Amino acid sequence: MKDPHSPSVDTLMAHFGEDRTMYDGAVVPPVFQNSLFTFKDWDDIDAAFEDRTRRPIYTRLINPTTRIAEQKIAALATASRTDLEARLTASGMAAVSAVILHSICAGDHVVAVKNVYGPTNNFLNSYLREKMGVETTFVPGTTLQDFAQAVTPKTKLIVLESPSSAVFTLQNIQEVADFARSKQITTMIDNTWATPVFQKPLDLGIDLEIHSASKYIGGHSDVVAGVIIGPRDRMQRIAVQEGELLGATVAPWTSWLITRSLRTLSMRLERHQKNAMAIALFLEQHPKIRQVRFPGLESHPQYELACRQMTGFTGLMGFELDTEDLPSIKRFFNGLTYFQIGVSWGGHESLIYAPAISYLKELPPERFKDLGISLGDMRISVGLENAEDLIQDLASALQLM
Ligand SMILES: *Cc1c(COP(=O)(O)O)cnc(C)c1O
Repeated sequence: MKDPHSPSVDTLMAHFGEDRTMYDGAVVPPVFQNSLFTFKDWDDIDAAFEDRTRRPIYTRLINPTTRIAEQKIAALATASRTDLEARLTASGMAAVSAVILHSICAGDHVVAVKNVYGPTNNFLNSYLREKMGVETTFVPGTTLQDFAQAVTPKTKLIVLESPSSAVFTLQNIQEVADFARSKQITTMIDNTWATPVFQKPLDLGIDLEIHSASKYIGGHSDVVAGVIIGPRDRMQRIAVQEGELLGATVAPWTSWLITRSLRTLSMRLERHQKNAMAIALFLEQHPKIRQVRFPGLESHPQYELACRQMTGFTGLMGFELDTEDLPSIKRFFNGLTYFQIGVSWGGHESLIYAPAISYLKELPPERFKDLGISLGDMRISVGLENAEDLIQDLASALQLM
């Protein structure tokens, strides 16, 4: 909750959602590492059940440590609304699956951006199709027509991810949200890339927003968690249905780490963004690079839209080496020092991954080409190290090709 005169992001993250009188003035709130809460008498616990989406009874539904992080994230997610609530989940995928299950019934139709996060794609395309007869149409999502042509009278949900995984294409969030509302279709967005600091889809009319908090929100590569943000009434339904029944609850200790991380989120993002921009510009002019995929570059085909709906660009990008020769691609990939090899992203450390490593295992080469990925495609998560050192590292590895 946030009023129009509320303080800036950094101040909110330092103070909001914490009541130090509750814990003897401790400057860092404690971890409420308990499964249950006890009550004075019959009437007290009875009243708690009446108000079970607010009063802690059992940690699967509410925990005060988790509440602190949730209140901060809800405040971060809006510039103007006062009706938002956030709920942490056990992982980003727990958030994705809870929101999708909340929004559909067996036999419904979904429209999703084709470059959504791989497991989100699999959840829709295999799991729900096979188990619940839910059909999903995947669209490029760069124009409103993509969505308008795909919806049917059975469409109940539109799944966005902007910028999307691997290829970093955008959807016009406000336009899609307006269209979906006119058809009474629920919209959800995976906003992990931009973070709630740089993009506020709920202010643009999206119904439900999710993040993998394992990425920038956690920021130190030491937690796996997710978050769902939406209007209070809907969030309370999700809490007592998908939250309570599927039970993918975050651990209090993880929530405590997330609160710590939120205090530095916008500072970290400034550095990630500054480093990433320097690296993107370096890569873009390098003769051994075919293209750089980064919404912060003027050469990105949707740069104008990116500037309109985001206020910053974070540090995850893709680029394509100018070769199809696997041995030279591997010499580059293995030749880096500061960019460590690993999945995930959004932590303090710089990472490299080649999408072809996963795509080659799961998809026939035609499908993988259809998703716009090639053998020489690289994905880097630019960390908090010194930008010059990182550029030097990339330059030396490129020499090995
Ligand atoms: C990592 C990721 C997820 C899943 O999050 P987990 O915390 O790993 O479950 C969802 N969406 C995007 C865009 C991601 O990068």
